[in-house]
Parts: sequence; structure tokens; C-alpha cells
Amino acid sequence: MKKPTFLFGLLCISVAASAQGQQPQQSSASAQRPSQWDPRSTEWHYPVPPKVSPGRNMAPPSDAIVLFGGSDLSQWESAGRDNAGGPPEWTVRNGELVVAPGKGSIRTKEYFGDCQLHIEFKSPPPGEHSGQNRGNSGIMLQSRYEVQVLDGDNNHTYVNGMVGSIYKQSAPSVNAYTKNGEWQVYDIYWKAPRFGAGGELESPAIVTVVLNGIAVQNNYVLKGHTPYTGLPSYTAHGRMPLSLQDHGTEVAYRNIWIRNL
Ligand code: MG
Repeated sequence: MKKPTFLFGLLCISVAASAQGQQPQQSSASAQRPSQWDPRSTEWHYPVPPKVSPGRNMAPPSDAIVLFGGSDLSQWESAGRDNAGGPPEWTVRNGELVVAPGKGSIRTKEYFGDCQLHIEFKSPPPGEHSGQNRGNSGIMLQSRYEVQVLDGDNNHTYVNGMVGSIYKQSAPSVNAYTKNGEWQVYDIYWKAPRFGAGGELESPAIVTVVLNGIAVQNNYVLKGHTPYTGLPSYTAHGRMPLSLQDHGTEVAYRNIWIRNL
């Protein structure tokens, strides 16, 4: 058994020495070629990406902005008609942020553009509700582009308004919702629209939506905002708050964090 190992070792040393011996010759040859043939011409070393520590078990990564971690609502304000800009009137209980029906939507104080958003939600018990009345809320990217939040457990509705849809624009590729009463996990990757100096659209918004680890929107190009009635359109804007929709049902949220991209 020792002899083959010894021979293999000799072979390796021989190959290594041979490669080392050839290296100057190869460098000399490459010097006569166009610089594009030098592999170093397509390698760069700066700027060095900053070190970020991933979160474990869906905890926020080290560079995320925690929007809701279980108790603190200081990142939020009301977006309701009657109390816009005031303190959010949603309920915090058991580490969950729960929609207070009739109190209006809420929005972040901070404005965002391109971003990665992690947010978890839980639908309330269905009761007698169905369709759009069962656990409806919404994640309003830049306050105007809605990723639908809805109970997707055996709940019939129009498909471009179901959970995972870009509201009234794009149905999800699959229904990745699990069961009523279970937490659902959204990871959303958002590229904001760009507008020219005159307000004209230069490039539309693009979104990828992952629900419970399953991609349900893959680089969907938005046609504009996501109204209940009428057609989508764009109106020029810059960075905008993230908003969560009050649609009259007690949807719960937790573990909300965002990273600027
Ligand atoms: Mg909604």
C-alpha cells in the first residue's frame, strides 16, 4: 500500500515543479499578448464589500434597519386620513404588531428606494369572511405599490388580488401560503422606478417576491401604482416611506427589517 502512495507523491512533486518551471515562460509569453489576455486585467480589488453578519433563524442581518422587532414602534407613524404623521395607533401585543381596523394605515418615518424587505404576517381567524375581506392588508412599497397580504388558505378571490400578487397587476406564479393561523414569511427585493428631471418615467419599478422561501414574483416589471379602481400609472417621486395597509382586519406582523440596496 505504501508504494503507490509514494509514487503518487513523486508524481505530484514532479507536476508542481514542472508548472513552477514553466511559469516565467508563460508570463513572458503573456506580456506579448494584448492586456485582455492577462487574467489580472479582469480582476479588481477595490472597493472591498463591507462585512455583514447574516441573521440566524430569520433574525436581521447586521446592517439591516429593524422596523419592528417586537415592541418598539418608534420607526413608524400613522398614515391615516385623520391622524397622518401622528403616533401609529396599531396594537402591539405578544411581540406582534396588529392592525387596528379603522385607525388607518401606518408608514415608516424613514424614506426608502431600492431595498430588501423581510416581513412576516399572520392572518386572523377567517370567521365568516371570504375573498378580499379575509385577512386583507398590504405591503405598500414606497407607499404606492402593493404586495398583497391576504389569507390564502382555501380563499377564493381574483388571482391578481390574492396573496403574493402585485395588486391588480400580476398574480403570483403559485400559492405559497400555508395555513390560516400560521406565520407567513415575505422577502421582497425592490428596485424603485426612476424618473427624469421633467418627471418622465426613465425605468419602471421591478420586484421579486419570495413567500415562504418560494419565488412567486420573479423580476416583475410594474405598470405603475396599484389602485383598487382604474389602471396603474406612474407619477414621479423619489424615496418614499414603506406603508402597511389597514384594510379592516386584524392582520398581525412581526420581524420587519429592511436593507437599503
Ligand atoms: Mg390589501
